[in-house]
Amino acid sequence: MLRFLAHRRTSTSRYMLASYSMAAVPKPLVKPDVYYTNLFINNEWHDAISGRTFPSVDPTNGEIIAHVAEGDKADVDIAVKAAREAFRLGSPWRCMDASKRGLLLNRLADLVERDRVYLASLETKDNGKPFAASYAVDLDEVIKVYRYFAGFADKWHGKTIPMDGNHFCYTRHEPVGVCGQIIPWNFPLVMQGWKLAPALATGNTVVMKVAEQTPLSALYVASLIKEAGFPPGVVNIITGYGPTAGAAVARHMDVNKVAFTGSTEVGHLIQQAAGETNLKRVTLELGGKSPSIVLADADLEHAVEQCHEALFFNMGQCCSAGSRTFVEETIYNEFLERTVEKAKLRKVGNPFELDTKHGPQIDKEQFDKILGYIKCSKTEGAKLMCGGERFGDKGFFIKPTVFADVQDNMKIAKEEVFGPVQPVFKFRNIKEVIERANNTRYGLAAGIFTKDLDKAMYFTQALQAGTVWVNTYNIVGCQTPFGGYKESGNGRELGEDGLKSYTEVKTVTIKIPQKNS
Ligand code: NAP
Ligand code: MG
Repeated sequence: MLRFLAHRRTSTSRYMLASYSMAAVPKPLVKPDVYYTNLFINNEWHDAISGRTFPSVDPTNGEIIAHVAEGDKADVDIAVKAAREAFRLGSPWRCMDASKRGLLLNRLADLVERDRVYLASLETKDNGKPFAASYAVDLDEVIKVYRYFAGFADKWHGKTIPMDGNHFCYTRHEPVGVCGQIIPWNFPLVMQGWKLAPALATGNTVVMKVAEQTPLSALYVASLIKEAGFPPGVVNIITGYGPTAGAAVARHMDVNKVAFTGSTEVGHLIQQAAGETNLKRVTLELGGKSPSIVLADADLEHAVEQCHEALFFNMGQCCSAGSRTFVEETIYNEFLERTVEKAKLRKVGNPFELDTKHGPQIDKEQFDKILGYIKCSKTEGAKLMCGGERFGDKGFFIKPTVFADVQDNMKIAKEEVFGPVQPVFKFRNIKEVIERANNTRYGLAAGIFTKDLDKAMYFTQALQAGTVWVNTYNIVGCQTPFGGYKESGNGRELGEDGLKSYTEVKTVTIKIPQKNS
C-alpha cells in the first residue's frame, strides 16, 4: 500500500484557522485513494452480515466516493463479543503494562503524523471542510490528543486513604469495560481521537459507530491501530446508520458505557436506551446555542473577527458555534456593518484550494434544513444583511449569511441551525444580556468581549456554560475539559476530567492485624 511522507508538525492546537500560517500547509491529494470500506472487527475487515452497503458522498458535487459496509445489530453483536473477549481477565490487553498502552497510543500518533496529508485529504473529500483546516487544525488536534492521553496511561492512579480503624484502604482506577462510542460527521477524525484516546489509555475496549456521512477517515485510522500493534478486539469500528447500528450499541446489554457526540435529540434517546437496558454509564456531548457577547468597550475589530470565526468556522457545523452574537446598542450599527463586510469577503468554494475558508454543508438534508431556517427567519421579520442562498449550482454550498434585528423568540434565536447563519442581537445592559444569554436549554460555551477585567470576571461566573472564553473564541486544547451544562450534555471530555468517565473507582479495604500472633 502507498504510504505518505511525514510532514513537519505545526504549532497550532487551535480551532481558529485564522491564526495559522498558510505557508506551512502542504499540497493536498486532490483525489485520495480509498483503501478501506468494510467493518473493522478483531483487527480484520468484514462485509456486513446483511451484505448491504451504503454510499459515502462528496458534498461538493453529490457524487459517490465509495460504497461502505452497512453494519447493523448483527454486526454490533459480533463486535461487542470481540471487545468483551479482548477485555477478558488474562487477555493480552488486560495483562499489558499501562506504560505499554501509552507506547501504543504514541505509535498511533506517529502513524497519523506519517499519513497526515493523506488523512487530511480524505477528510476533506468525505466531509467537504477546507483542506487547510483539515490539515492544520483537525490533524494537529488528533495527533496531540493521542499523545496527551498516551502520557496519562501510567499516571492515572488511585489513592491510599487514612480511614478510621485498623484498616489499610486504597482505591484502584479500573477500566469500565466495553465502551460504545458514537460519533458525528462534523469533526470525524477529531471526535474519533477524543473518544478513543482516553478509553484506550485507561485500558477499556471499544466498539465505535462512526457517522454515516463520513466513514472513510475513521476506517483508515483503524488500519493504523492494527499497524501500531493494538491486540485484536481492542478497537472495533462499525459503519452504518444511527437508528440501526447506533441504537444497537446504545441498547446492548454487554456494553458498559456509551459516549455519544451529536444532536440533543439523539442524546435523549441514548440516555433513554441506557435506562431501559443495563444502566450503562452515559456521557453526552450535544448541541448548543452559545452566545458571544460584545460590550461597548471591546476592541471592535478583534471582536468582529472573533464573532465571525466563532460562527462560520467549519461552515457553522460546530457544537460550540457562537450562534447568538449579542452586541451593546451603542456599537451595534458599526459592529453590524463590519460583520456583514467580513461575511461577504469569506472565500467560498473548492475546499482543496488552500485559500478557501468555506466549503459545502455536509449533505442535502442539512443544506435543506439550513435554507429552511433562513426562509423562516425572513418570514419572522429578521433582516437579511447578506447571503441567504445557495452558492453555485452543485453540491451543498450556502453563502455566509448574516441576520440583523433578530428577536429572542425567533427560531434562529432558539434552535441549533448548525450552518453559516449569524444572527446579531442588540442589548442595553449587562443584567439584561446575561438573562437572555442564559435563557436557553443549552449551555455548551460562551464568549465575552470587553477590556474591563471586572466585567469579564462577572460574566465568567454568571454564564451557564461548560466553557467561557474571554476576548477569544473556540480555543480548545486536549488539556482542557470540554462539555455542557443543561441539555448540552453530561460529563466532560479531554483533560484529566475526561478520564473519569472511563474508569470505575474500586475501594479496597484490608484489615491490619493488631499485634503479631
Ligand atoms: P445525530 O443524528 O445526532 O448523529 C450523531 C451520531 O449519532 C451519528 O453517528 C448518527 O448516526 C448517530 N445516531 C443517529 N440516530 C441514532 C440513534 N437513534 N441511536 C444511536 N445513534 C444514533 O446528528 P446528525 O443527524 O448527523 O445531525 C443533526 C443535528 O445534530 C445537527 O443539525 C446538529 O444540530 C447536531 N449535531 C451536533 C454535533 C455536535 O458536535 N454536538 C455534531 C453533529 C450534529 P448516522 O450518522 O448514521 O445517522
Ligand atoms: Mg461523505
